[in-house]
Amino acid sequence: MHEWALAEAVIVAAHQEAEKQNIKQITKVLVKIGELQQIDLDIFKFALENIKNIYDDLSFDADVIDLEVEPSLLKCKVCGIEWELRDLTRLKEDESEAIHFIPETAHVFMRCPGCGTPDFEIVKGRGVWIQSIEGVL
Ligand SMILES: [Zn+2]
Repeated sequence: MHEWALAEAVIVAAHQEAEKQNIKQITKVLVKIGELQQIDLDIFKFALENIKNIYDDLSFDADVIDLEVEPSLLKCKVCGIEWELRDLTRLKEDESEAIHFIPETAHVFMRCPGCGTPDFEIVKGRGVWIQSIEGVL
């Protein structure tokens, strides 16, 4: 259900943004998804297509929506260094998978690569947002 709510928010926001910019026909919507956001991309795409059909006054097709994953950025609260999830090669593959599905488990598996503390914050890597909209005026 979470994917459906996000998809609807994206569709509505894209529509409002297009109106604000006087765009008649949207040709591209770039949607960014944080690497640590709990979201199933297949369900999200499916939801976008279906919700698009409910709003039949919209000036775009669901296939103009591009999804891009934004890399995470993590910062140690103790020594202050920053790193990305993908930098942590010492994470085993199955642990890395678990983090993608449940960001809260990041603290269970991850340690600061500098000082080894599990006390770090997630600076980037959460949320879903519209990065840009292109269209015909
Ligand atoms: Zn540290």
